[in-house]
Amino acid sequence: MPDPQRYGIPGQPGLAPGDDARRGAPATGENVCRKCRGSGMIAGRRCEECDGTGRVVAGIGGG
Ligand SMILES: [Zn+2]
Repeated sequence: MPDPQRYGIPGQPGLAPGDDARRGAPATGENVCRKCRGSGMIAGRRCEECDGTGRVVAGIGGG
């Protein structure tokens, strides 16, 4: 059984800590992760900001 605390926010699968909103949600878009600059890795380890995807979901307008 996967440990939910290892993967982002419990109860919200697929949501990385750096995500502003759920992927595919209205009025959102993917941005390159600023922390790892899109590589998904930092110093050989998975970037926690984007959960190793290299991208984060950010809200567009509105807020
Ligand atoms: Zn990242």
